[in-house]
Amino acid sequence: MSEVEQAQHPQIPAPNEETIFDKIASKQIPANIVYEDDLVMAFRDISPQAPVHIVLIPKHRDGLTRLLVAEERHKALLGHMMWAASEVARREHLEAGWRLTVNDGVWGSQSVYHLHFHILGGRQMGWPPG
Ligand code: C5P
Repeated sequence: MSEVEQAQHPQIPAPNEETIFDKIASKQIPANIVYEDDLVMAFRDISPQAPVHIVLIPKHRDGLTRLLVAEERHKALLGHMMWAASEVARREHLEAGWRLTVNDGVWGSQSVYHLHFHILGGRQMGWPPG
């Protein structure tokens, strides 16, 4: 990203800049972790929007500030994140149904520019989402 683009999108971290999710992944900041492996971590959202609300992140952002910028080289990690989301949903007993959400960019209401999935469950979801 150019300096001009960075100035226009101040919330987007520079490539080496740590996000709050980097600090959670490296355990500098505590979180209620429900799943972890060598590639991803899932923890309970501090501001839950459903009885079950879990955030799933790649431990290493590797340029993935948001889904829109995903490249060919990220395909294996993205596939692993989908599998990990299903594993978390099984562990949380979300057989009745659940939702997997990515808030992407300003219009998607993204607030942390470190790719993450929201795993939501434990209540009836509405459609369309707000
Ligand atoms: O998709 P979006 O970027 O808006 O979501 C970020 C999510 O990360 C929010 O739901 C917020 O509550 C959560 N969060 C968290 N722990 C933090 C900071 C943010 O669970 N320390």
